Amino acid sequence: MANKSHLIKPLLGATYPEVAYGKGIYLYDSDGNRYLDGASGAVTANIGHGVTEIIQAMKEQAEKISFVYRSQFTNRPAEELAEKLAQIAPGDLDYVFFVNSGSEAMETALKIAIQYWQEIGKPQKNRVISRWTSYHGITLGALSMSGHVLRRNRFSSLLADYPAVSPPYCYQCPFYETYPSCGMKCANELETAIQRIGPENVAAFIFEPIIGAAGGAIVPPEPYYAKIKEICDRYDVLLIADEVMTGFGRTGKNFAMEHWNVEPDIMALGKGLSGGYTPIGATMVSARIIDTIERGSKVIMSGHTLSGNPQSAAVALAVLDYMNLHQPGENAANLESFVEHELRTIASHYPVVGDIRGKGLLWGLELVTNPETKESFPIHTFVTERTVKKCFEKGLIVYPAVGGINGTSGDAIIIAPPLTISKEEMKMLMKILEEAIAEISHDLDH
Ligand code: PLP
Repeated sequence: MANKSHLIKPLLGATYPEVAYGKGIYLYDSDGNRYLDGASGAVTANIGHGVTEIIQAMKEQAEKISFVYRSQFTNRPAEELAEKLAQIAPGDLDYVFFVNSGSEAMETALKIAIQYWQEIGKPQKNRVISRWTSYHGITLGALSMSGHVLRRNRFSSLLADYPAVSPPYCYQCPFYETYPSCGMKCANELETAIQRIGPENVAAFIFEPIIGAAGGAIVPPEPYYAKIKEICDRYDVLLIADEVMTGFGRTGKNFAMEHWNVEPDIMALGKGLSGGYTPIGATMVSARIIDTIERGSKVIMSGHTLSGNPQSAAVALAVLDYMNLHQPGENAANLESFVEHELRTIASHYPVVGDIRGKGLLWGLELVTNPETKESFPIHTFVTERTVKKCFEKGLIVYPAVGGINGTSGDAIIIAPPLTISKEEMKMLMKILEEAIAEISHDLDH
């Protein structure tokens, strides 16, 4: 009889293969099976697995010092990492607050925004607006800002009542309109929400540049962010970009907001910051905000025991250096049109794939019952889970994106392999994906 496992897993009672090691875009389990990591885990392993330079940096730092408390010491890796992030971040995002996860990066972003308004004598400006069909993290503050119905439902009584507006989700337009004749009602809704709540009460608008886990790589119409910025400027509302999933070359640029030339006031980072080699997240903050706090109370009321620990910082620094040298974001940009073409071909063969969308190497496939009506599957069909499982059985890892929109499951899967993937490897990924979609289509028809 197998030994009882004491580890609480995502699905209790289910069995999971035990990973043995990883190399490049592949993971190997203890039975010797190989998996093509078509999702970089959870859109995280941006430079692939088992990169020698990162392992070396880990060892070197561990021999010096792994932990110091930030109230007692600063440390060289954290200082250097902050400096390099400030160099590549858009606009005047010159300051960095380190945390351990994307959720914490968003919590910190929220707190800094609220603190900023307090420092300038507007303490009532403390509400944030986010979007339905969004995911900003699993902790209660981050979940309060998230429109991920499935993850919220159980805890709704504990969640702060943040107002949310419609997402720029053209394929399933919340207004049942079509771009551009819609006049971007989704963006206009932000203005209406600010006016309704009163600009004097609104601290920030919080968004994922490309909607990830709750929607499956939903890219807004081109002028959307320029309009959002204009509205936020008009009402003195801060822009908080959650680049936890989209940062570090994932969409073909360092940060996704560069596609639209819109500079946020605060930016949350995680996942690709360390490429999964260590837990670390970061909140980047504009000079204007930090200068204000420095002139005021001087202390940012947030932080964790392991914030900015030298071990995690050294690893993330090595990952940044690796990205600087190999420019995997450029590879992502170069592969974009190939991936789009391949996914469109799959969609043209299998009507279950209603929409494909994405940028760089962040792509979503939305699964629908009928591509003409775009009708979603009923929740109990578990189409996303079944597709993810089918791919897994074939040795391909894809990521589920189940937001739950309009009372349906809103089925989508994300394809987001390490940014270091070659075109040949990408062809292999597409081949397995097509086989899995063919089988799912067949299963759904019978
Ligand atoms: N923000 C975005 C956009 C995410 O995709 C995620 C995780 O999927 C988070 C925040 C939360 O990050 P973490 O799981 O590291 O807490």
